Amino acid sequence: MNDIKKVNVMVQKYDAIIIGGGSGGLSYAERAASYGVKCLLIEKDKLGGTCVNVGCVPKKVMWNAANIAHTFDDAKGYGFSFEGPSFSWSTLKAKRDQYIHNIVNWYNESYMPNAGVDVIHGAAKFVDNKTVEVNGEQYSAETIVISTGGYPLRLDVPGTEYGITSDEFFDLEEAPKRVAVVGAGYIAVELAQLLSALGSKTELLCRGDMVLRHFDSYITEHLYEELMKDEHLTLHPRSNVQEVIKNADGSLTVRTERETLEVDLLVWAIGRGYNTHNIGLENTDVPVNPDGTITVDKYQATNVEGVYALGDIIGGKYQLTPVAIAAGRRLADRLHNGMTDRHLEYHNIPSIVFSHPPIGTTGLTEKEAIAEYGQAAITCYTTSFTAMYSSFSDKPVKTAMKMVCAGEEEKIVGIHLIGPSVDEMLQGFAVAVKMGARKQDFDDTVALHPTAAEELVTMR
Ligand code: FAD
Ligand code: NDP
Repeated sequence: MNDIKKVNVMVQKYDAIIIGGGSGGLSYAERAASYGVKCLLIEKDKLGGTCVNVGCVPKKVMWNAANIAHTFDDAKGYGFSFEGPSFSWSTLKAKRDQYIHNIVNWYNESYMPNAGVDVIHGAAKFVDNKTVEVNGEQYSAETIVISTGGYPLRLDVPGTEYGITSDEFFDLEEAPKRVAVVGAGYIAVELAQLLSALGSKTELLCRGDMVLRHFDSYITEHLYEELMKDEHLTLHPRSNVQEVIKNADGSLTVRTERETLEVDLLVWAIGRGYNTHNIGLENTDVPVNPDGTITVDKYQATNVEGVYALGDIIGGKYQLTPVAIAAGRRLADRLHNGMTDRHLEYHNIPSIVFSHPPIGTTGLTEKEAIAEYGQAAITCYTTSFTAMYSSFSDKPVKTAMKMVCAGEEEKIVGIHLIGPSVDEMLQGFAVAVKMGARKQDFDDTVALHPTAAEELVTMR
């Protein structure tokens, strides 16, 4: 309902208003301001949004710590001996919080002011297609960018409130002794494996047969092997949580249709909702989809002239920080710097799952490639091996690689990797795929030896 009226209020004018100061909003604002656009960015919480405060950044710090825990196992295989190392979660958390605090401070004190962007802290609501209200003041602009991102969902079962989400995960002062992670996507896998590496007895509950079911099956088969080897982690397939009960001692009883588990903490990681329900869109002509996303065209434009949406809020397969950043910068280039066709192409976008070992993927899975090009046009190359580094470890980890090629010229349409260091390996290969590389181009590239990456240019 129209709970905000545009009467008797002085409306301040800007060229562009950005609602949401996360990865996408900050990037659009900074780029637009560099072209002389007078920008107002409104953020209801902390600048940096999900990625910096409760996403990529704190997650990667914890993944690094988990990697170090695995490195202790490797070190023994290389002849080192030492007493079992101890780990202080709270020490790392304090350093991590400070690191993030410094980034957010930099956004507030340098990045936005130096760009010439005005920032208001408060929750913005549309008054109409061109006007926004925040902290009782109204502002209008010909260009309004919605980049309000999402929030973690909880399962609708009795006792759901006893679980936490990824947001509260980053508030934990200590590692839980026993934890259930519910979900099967990026967040479930990443949190479950880092918890297990840092000493928690971890139950990973997914509703299907396997986690990351949209990934190429060659990669998830190898991930499955690693999950099965993990003595601190148990995968519970086909486990729908039906109820969570809080016990007198603070522990939780988690009931699925198959079993009952006792844990100290439960983390819901079952996907994300979208921040469109509380931003006054009912006062505009921008429709919201049933799942809370906003539909845009390839130029990030909504159906209302001058109103754009970008980042997680548009939903889809690529809800990633670099995607939100790229969409924001391209939109500013197009609207304010005469680059009339500049837009983000939402395919061949690489991503990494920070699992142990990490997974890297770009382009189409074999299944997707067959659906697009037909079975006869697809050739796949695979290799699986234990890299030299891992061969010396007490707990060796396998590397697996798959290249999906299309047509007689064997254009590479997908690369899928799992193994130590693939997180740092993929970026360069993603450039090649984006440029339209063929298998022959990889064959013609001289290998780097001895590395795991060289296997990608020596596949047969
Ligand atoms: P956000 O970053 O969510 O920013 C939206 C902002 O809008 C928020 O700051 C919010 O407070 C603000 N807002 C909402 N409503 C209002 C309002 N009414 N008024 C004013 N402000 C408002 N991506 C990767 O690429 N790599 C990773 O490793 C990775 N790890 C992740 C780990 C986790 C646990 C999570 C949850 C996400 C991760 N992501 C990762 C995804 C990444 O964080 C998002 O894709 C990215 O943050 C999206 O940017 P955005 O600008 O669309 O939204
Ligand atoms: P995802 O979309 O990756 O996964 C959601 C998972 O929730 C699915 O696997 C789904 O299972 C499961 N699920 C949905 N509903 C239920 C239910 N009712 N009961 C049980 N399980 C359910 O979402 P995430 O929340 O993990 O991550 C959100 C997005 O953030 C990701 O898609 C990614 O774009 C981004 N992200 C990126 C990261 C990175 O780049 N490293 C890291 C973290 C997040 P099923 O498969 O069975 O349908």
